[in-house]
Amino acid sequence: MKTKNNINPHCHVCMEEFKVGVDVVMDGTFKGIIHADCNYLPPGEIEDRGKFEAVVKRNQKWFSQFNHVIRH
Ligand SMILES: [Zn+2]
Repeated sequence: MKTKNNINPHCHVCMEEFKVGVDVVMDGTFKGIIHADCNYLPPGEIEDRGKFEAVVKRNQKWFSQFNHVIRH
């Protein structure tokens, strides 16, 4: 099933696609997600952190386009 929102989110630091279960942090300024391992942000810039699917669920305003990745 293809939808217009079928975008595979990836880390803009290492360019790898996110997978369910990886630890990520959310950038409070740009509303992007990067791997916790790739994180270069100071603590004050981190808006959320946790497993990829948990961050997407908590931040639907920004990441609803990633829901196809976390649904299994
Ligand atoms: Zn990365």
